[in-house]
Amino acid sequence: VRCEPVLVAMASVPRHLFVDTALAAQAYEDTALPIGLGQTISKPSVVARMLALLFDGRDAARTGSLGRVLEIGSGCGYQAALLSLLAQQVISVERLRPLHEKARDNLALLRRSNLRLVYGDGRLGHAPNAPYDAIVCAAGGDDVPQPWLDQLAIGGRLLAPTRADPQKGQVLITVDRTSDGLIRRDHESVHFVPLRSGTA
Ligand code: SAH
Repeated sequence: VRCEPVLVAMASVPRHLFVDTALAAQAYEDTALPIGLGQTISKPSVVARMLALLFDGRDAARTGSLGRVLEIGSGCGYQAALLSLLAQQVISVERLRPLHEKARDNLALLRRSNLRLVYGDGRLGHAPNAPYDAIVCAAGGDDVPQPWLDQLAIGGRLLAPTRADPQKGQVLITVDRTSDGLIRRDHESVHFVPLRSGTA
């Protein structure tokens, strides 16, 4: 990843603050780490790749800002913290209450006023703040939920792991909304935790 804003953001958010103290020593290795309830924080190289894909070939690369962003899967809040440095406004949705609360506690230290955490089912997106210039999901589903497409601004980009093509397994896809319609691209194979419905 050579995307400058992403590298700067990653250099300034201390990853060890987002994992258990027992794991802090591993926080700067390129590995996924458990964050509780069977969920994981992705390895830094995957997070960097995801963020770089949000900039790649778009206006955001020129302006250095992703605009208004919706994140699905707050988890421990690490990627949300990075997004808050790269965007004007960030809404991050988490379906597991203990993780929503963990993200809130972790992020309190950073005092990012442009970041809002929402407890709910991210498959529904978050209509009150739509449309979004970028929608990024950290959990893999079998499809792309329609509300995400509905809540994507013209010129916006959606990025998510999906199994839409069973032959390929889980891959990262991007969907760009242009004034002429949606453009979907498939990227590399990935292994994200499952996107689930409802809250718990
Ligand atoms: N970006 C996170 C990664 C967390 S892993 C971080 O930096 O820590 C993915 C998260 O997606 C998990 O916390 C999981 O609970 C959440 N998730 C799965 N399905 C979801 C849904 N429908 N709505 C919101 N969050 C969801």
